[in-house]
Amino acid sequence: MGRAIAQLQGVYILAENNQGLVIVDMHAAHERIVYERLKTQISLTAPDGSVHPLASQPLLIPATFAATPDEVATAEAHVATLNTLGLEISPFSPKTLAVRAVPTTLAQGDAVELARSVLAELAQHDASTVIQRAQNEILGTMACHGAVRANRKLTLEEMNALLRDMEATERSDQCNHGRPTWRQLTLKELDSLFLRGR
Ligand SMILES: [Zn+2]
Repeated sequence: MGRAIAQLQGVYILAENNQGLVIVDMHAAHERIVYERLKTQISLTAPDGSVHPLASQPLLIPATFAATPDEVATAEAHVATLNTLGLEISPFSPKTLAVRAVPTTLAQGDAVELARSVLAELAQHDASTVIQRAQNEILGTMACHGAVRANRKLTLEEMNALLRDMEATERSDQCNHGRPTWRQLTLKELDSLFLRGR
Protein backbone atom coordinates (compact mmCIF):
# COMPACT_ATOMS: atom_id res chain seq x y z
CA MET A 1 0.00 0.00 0.00
CA GLY A 2 3.04 2.26 0.09
CA ARG A 3 3.75 5.47 1.95
CA ALA A 4 1.07 8.09 2.66
CA ILE A 5 1.68 11.47 1.07
CA ALA A 6 -1.56 13.41 1.52
CA GLN A 7 -5.25 13.44 2.34
CA LEU A 8 -7.60 14.59 -0.42
CA GLN A 9 -10.86 16.47 0.22
CA GLY A 10 -11.26 14.77 3.60
CA VAL A 11 -12.22 11.55 1.86
CA TYR A 12 -9.20 9.91 0.23
CA ILE A 13 -5.70 9.03 1.31
CA LEU A 14 -3.06 9.31 -1.37
CA ALA A 15 -0.01 7.09 -1.09
CA GLU A 16 3.01 6.33 -3.22
CA ASN A 17 4.30 2.82 -3.87
CA ASN A 18 6.78 1.45 -6.38
CA GLN A 19 4.06 1.04 -9.00
CA GLY A 20 2.77 4.59 -8.78
CA LEU A 21 -0.14 6.18 -6.93
CA VAL A 22 -2.45 4.47 -4.43
CA ILE A 23 -5.84 6.04 -3.65
CA VAL A 24 -7.68 4.83 -0.54
CA ASP A 25 -11.27 5.55 0.48
CA MET A 26 -10.42 6.08 4.12
CA HIS A 27 -13.86 5.48 5.67
CA ALA A 28 -14.52 2.34 3.64
CA ALA A 29 -11.07 0.95 4.39
CA HIS A 30 -11.22 1.71 8.09
CA GLU A 31 -14.76 0.33 8.34
CA ARG A 32 -13.53 -2.96 6.89
CA ILE A 33 -10.64 -3.14 9.33
CA VAL A 34 -12.91 -2.46 12.32
CA TYR A 35 -15.45 -5.00 11.03
CA GLU A 36 -12.86 -7.77 10.69
CA ARG A 37 -11.53 -6.92 14.15
CA LEU A 38 -15.00 -7.18 15.72
CA LYS A 39 -15.72 -10.41 13.87
CA THR A 40 -12.48 -11.99 15.05
CA GLN A 41 -13.14 -10.93 18.65
CA ILE A 42 -16.67 -12.28 18.73
CA SER A 43 -15.80 -15.56 17.02
CA LEU A 44 -13.40 -16.55 19.77
CA THR A 45 -15.67 -18.89 21.66
CA ALA A 46 -15.32 -19.43 25.36
CA PRO A 47 -14.07 -22.85 26.58
CA ASP A 48 -17.67 -23.95 27.23
CA GLY A 49 -18.61 -23.20 23.62
CA SER A 50 -20.65 -20.10 24.39
CA VAL A 51 -20.25 -16.92 22.36
CA HIS A 52 -17.41 -14.74 23.52
CA PRO A 53 -18.57 -11.19 24.22
CA LEU A 54 -16.77 -8.24 22.63
CA ALA A 55 -14.31 -6.59 25.00
CA SER A 56 -16.23 -3.78 26.60
CA GLN A 57 -15.26 -0.49 28.19
CA PRO A 58 -17.42 1.29 30.78
CA LEU A 59 -18.06 4.97 30.08
CA LEU A 60 -16.85 7.34 32.77
CA ILE A 61 -20.10 9.25 32.43
CA PRO A 62 -23.03 7.26 31.00
CA ALA A 63 -24.33 8.74 27.73
CA THR A 64 -28.07 9.29 28.15
CA PHE A 65 -30.58 9.96 25.40
CA ALA A 66 -34.32 10.48 25.00
CA ALA A 67 -35.53 7.09 23.78
CA THR A 68 -38.70 5.96 22.04
CA PRO A 69 -40.86 3.33 23.79
CA ASP A 70 -39.63 0.84 21.16
CA GLU A 71 -36.01 1.57 21.96
CA VAL A 72 -36.63 1.13 25.69
CA ALA A 73 -38.46 -2.17 25.09
CA THR A 74 -35.70 -3.45 22.81
CA ALA A 75 -32.97 -2.52 25.29
CA GLU A 76 -34.82 -4.42 28.03
CA ALA A 77 -35.54 -7.47 25.87
CA HIS A 78 -32.00 -7.84 24.52
CA VAL A 79 -29.79 -7.30 27.56
CA ALA A 80 -27.78 -10.48 26.96
CA THR A 81 -27.32 -9.85 23.24
CA LEU A 82 -26.25 -6.28 23.91
CA ASN A 83 -23.70 -7.56 26.42
CA THR A 84 -22.37 -9.98 23.83
CA LEU A 85 -21.96 -7.00 21.51
CA GLY A 86 -20.02 -5.16 24.22
CA LEU A 87 -22.85 -2.75 24.97
CA GLU A 88 -24.55 -1.98 28.25
CA ILE A 89 -27.72 0.04 27.75
CA SER A 90 -30.19 0.41 30.60
CA PRO A 91 -33.22 2.56 31.44
CA PHE A 92 -32.32 5.77 33.19
CA SER A 93 -35.89 7.00 33.49
CA PRO A 94 -39.08 5.80 31.74
CA LYS A 95 -38.18 7.79 28.63
CA THR A 96 -34.42 7.87 28.83
CA LEU A 97 -31.80 5.22 28.14
CA ALA A 98 -28.24 5.31 29.42
CA VAL A 99 -25.32 3.79 27.52
CA ARG A 100 -22.97 2.62 30.26
CA ALA A 101 -20.42 0.60 28.31
CA VAL A 102 -19.32 0.34 24.68
CA PRO A 103 -17.03 -2.10 22.83
CA THR A 104 -13.40 -1.15 23.43
CA THR A 105 -12.73 -1.21 19.68
CA LEU A 106 -15.41 1.47 19.18
CA ALA A 107 -14.67 3.59 22.25
CA GLN A 108 -13.75 6.62 20.09
CA GLY A 109 -17.12 6.84 18.39
CA ASP A 110 -20.45 8.40 19.35
CA ALA A 111 -21.96 6.09 22.00
CA VAL A 112 -25.55 7.30 21.51
CA GLU A 113 -25.49 6.93 17.72
CA LEU A 114 -24.00 3.47 18.11
CA ALA A 115 -26.61 2.44 20.69
CA ARG A 116 -29.50 3.73 18.58
CA SER A 117 -28.43 1.95 15.43
CA VAL A 118 -27.81 -1.34 17.22
CA LEU A 119 -31.21 -1.12 18.95
CA ALA A 120 -32.83 -0.45 15.57
CA GLU A 121 -31.21 -3.58 14.14
CA LEU A 122 -32.11 -5.70 17.16
CA ALA A 123 -35.74 -4.58 16.99
CA GLN A 124 -35.99 -6.29 13.61
CA HIS A 125 -34.83 -9.67 14.86
CA ASP A 126 -36.03 -12.31 17.21
CA ALA A 127 -33.80 -12.60 20.29
CA SER A 128 -32.89 -16.24 19.81
CA THR A 129 -31.72 -15.90 16.23
CA VAL A 130 -30.16 -12.50 16.38
CA ILE A 131 -26.63 -13.49 17.26
CA GLN A 132 -26.31 -16.27 14.72
CA ARG A 133 -28.07 -14.80 11.74
CA ALA A 134 -27.84 -11.06 12.10
CA GLN A 135 -24.45 -10.92 13.74
CA ASN A 136 -22.53 -9.87 10.66
CA GLU A 137 -25.07 -7.21 9.74
CA ILE A 138 -25.00 -5.76 13.21
CA LEU A 139 -21.22 -5.87 13.37
CA GLY A 140 -21.19 -4.06 10.02
CA THR A 141 -23.38 -1.30 11.41
CA MET A 142 -21.18 -1.05 14.48
CA ALA A 143 -18.04 -0.91 12.35
CA CYS A 144 -19.50 1.94 10.29
CA HIS A 145 -19.97 3.93 13.50
CA GLY A 146 -16.49 3.12 14.71
CA ALA A 147 -14.76 4.00 11.46
CA VAL A 148 -13.17 7.35 10.77
CA ARG A 149 -15.66 9.83 9.29
CA ALA A 150 -15.18 11.90 6.16
CA ASN A 151 -13.56 15.27 6.77
CA ARG A 152 -11.59 14.05 9.78
CA LYS A 153 -8.09 15.39 9.33
CA LEU A 154 -5.55 12.58 9.60
CA THR A 155 -1.86 13.00 10.23
CA LEU A 156 0.60 11.24 7.93
CA GLU A 157 1.33 8.90 10.82
CA GLU A 158 -2.36 7.98 11.16
CA MET A 159 -2.65 7.51 7.40
CA ASN A 160 0.36 5.20 7.37
CA ALA A 161 -1.06 3.25 10.31
CA LEU A 162 -4.27 2.74 8.34
CA LEU A 163 -2.31 1.52 5.29
CA ARG A 164 -0.40 -0.97 7.48
CA ASP A 165 -3.68 -2.16 9.04
CA MET A 166 -5.09 -2.70 5.54
CA GLU A 167 -2.09 -4.85 4.64
CA ALA A 168 -2.64 -6.95 7.75
CA THR A 169 -6.41 -7.31 7.34
CA GLU A 170 -7.97 -10.10 5.34
CA ARG A 171 -10.36 -9.01 2.59
CA SER A 172 -9.45 -5.36 3.13
CA ASP A 173 -9.78 -4.76 -0.65
CA GLN A 174 -13.53 -4.43 -0.35
CA CYS A 175 -15.77 -2.62 2.10
CA ASN A 176 -18.67 -4.40 3.80
CA HIS A 177 -20.94 -3.36 0.94
CA GLY A 178 -18.67 -4.84 -1.73
CA ARG A 179 -17.20 -1.56 -2.96
CA PRO A 180 -13.45 -1.27 -3.45
CA THR A 181 -11.51 0.37 -0.63
CA TRP A 182 -8.52 1.35 -2.74
CA ARG A 183 -7.26 1.70 -6.29
CA GLN A 184 -3.84 1.67 -7.86
CA LEU A 185 -2.92 4.15 -10.59
CA THR A 186 0.31 2.89 -12.16
CA LEU A 187 3.01 5.17 -13.52
CA LYS A 188 2.13 3.87 -16.97
CA GLU A 189 -1.47 4.99 -16.50
CA LEU A 190 -0.32 8.36 -15.18
CA ASP A 191 2.07 8.75 -18.12
CA SER A 192 -0.68 8.02 -20.59
CA LEU A 193 -2.85 10.69 -18.94
CA PHE A 194 -0.11 13.18 -19.81
CA LEU A 195 0.63 11.63 -23.20
CA ARG A 196 4.19 11.03 -22.07
CA GLY A 197 6.41 8.83 -24.26
CA ARG A 198 4.21 9.15 -27.33
ZN1 LIG B 1 -19.80 3.30 6.77
